[in-house]
Amino acid sequence: MSKIADVVIIGSGIIGNSTAYYLAKKGYSVTVLEKSKNIGDGGSSRNGGGVRQSGRDLRELPLAMYGVQNLWPGLSEELGVDVEYYQQGNLRLGKTEAHLDILKGIVAKSKPLGLELGMISPEEVKEICPYLSDEVIGACWCPTDGHANPLTATLGYYRRARQLGVKFYTEQEVLSIKKIRGRARQVVTADRVFEGDQVILAAGLESRNIAASVGIDVPMSDILLEVLVTEAQPPMFYQMLGTASADFYGHQTTHGSFVFGGTSGLDAVNKHNGTPVNSSLTASSTCRGILGYLPALKDAKVVRTWAGWIDYCVDAVPVISHVDEVPGLILACGFTGHGFGIGPTAGTLLAQMAAGEETVLDISAFRYDRFKAKI
Ligand SMILES: Cc1cc2nc3c(=O)[nH]c(=O)nc-3n(C[C@H](O)[C@H](O)[C@H](O)COP(=O)(O)OP(=O)(O)OC[C@H]3O[C@@H](n4cnc5c(N)ncnc54)[C@H](O)[C@@H]3O)c2cc1C
Repeated sequence: MSKIADVVIIGSGIIGNSTAYYLAKKGYSVTVLEKSKNIGDGGSSRNGGGVRQSGRDLRELPLAMYGVQNLWPGLSEELGVDVEYYQQGNLRLGKTEAHLDILKGIVAKSKPLGLELGMISPEEVKEICPYLSDEVIGACWCPTDGHANPLTATLGYYRRARQLGVKFYTEQEVLSIKKIRGRARQVVTADRVFEGDQVILAAGLESRNIAASVGIDVPMSDILLEVLVTEAQPPMFYQMLGTASADFYGHQTTHGSFVFGGTSGLDAVNKHNGTPVNSSLTASSTCRGILGYLPALKDAKVVRTWAGWIDYCVDAVPVISHVDEVPGLILACGFTGHGFGIGPTAGTLLAQMAAGEETVLDISAFRYDRFKAKI
């Protein structure tokens, strides 16, 4: 039996690590359990780095806005590592009237919550990013959106958390959670039992199986997403790009390479054995999308592609919630492909929940029991 911690966290992605850091900062003893040999071996080290508020589900938008206003700008300083945060805006591009209608819909939806977001003309688009195709006839522009480096942010939280005394155990695949006297308390791996006054379940997709061990179902499924990276280019622009028809999204990194995400549209029918494997179709399909908007990259070579699972929650927003039937358990999963950008906010909220404090934002929309049939 391992020593008892105030909080045991399952999963060392950006959600687990940021929560561990914010809890340690409050003086709590924290243990983090990771199944892989490597810290952050899930979506958190494989994502496209978007720190985006525009186009968010309205339930999630306040979390995204809070992070952009309060956490991301000072994160490099706080973690003592360059998280390569650029806040130079997001251009979501359109080439047809139908595209512009989609973009206007995004603007209309987000405006009431106070997000700075609007339609801009082709001339304004070119002023912001002169490299774009003349076929672009407008864009939805959010000047406060941005991007960051998933690896340095996820590992930056890990490093700072360790400096504050958080204990990380790799190669500890959690098999189940056990209740003691009605409360979640023990976390069982193949060869050990860890114990904490509270347990935070942040294991991405695999949270579903672990939650089932205490009788809770979080309706999530796996979707494969892919990313590609080009060889380094001279500095061109630091806006985040996307399109109305979701052909691709991406940005240029500090190193000069461009990182782009996309899909072949066939990912859902690709068979898999649990390992996220690239399809031969996706990179070429993404490149076709990119070159249709960014011809300036026609000679850039793709040097690497990779894939990762997202934990797609049935209503596309996460579960961030205490569990009435299992006191002591906090669920933090189902981030549905948007969890990197809101990771720092989610970690802040989860640390407040575990500390019994009032959360800085209303999290009632993320309750675990919102899927129950209403009688
Ligand atoms: C290709 C791709 C592109 C994306 N692009 C973006 C983007 O641009 N912007 C954005 O905001 N989000 C993006 N996302 C989503 C984002 O990466 C995730 O939402 C976020 O990283 C989730 O963090 P997490 O900590 O919940 O999960 P993860 O990072 O998946 O971490 C979960 C951890 O739990 C561990 N684990 C699993 N099972 C167990 C177990 N039984 N016991 C112990 N440990 C276990 C895993 O090994 C993993 O390390 C993207 C995702 C992918 C895959």
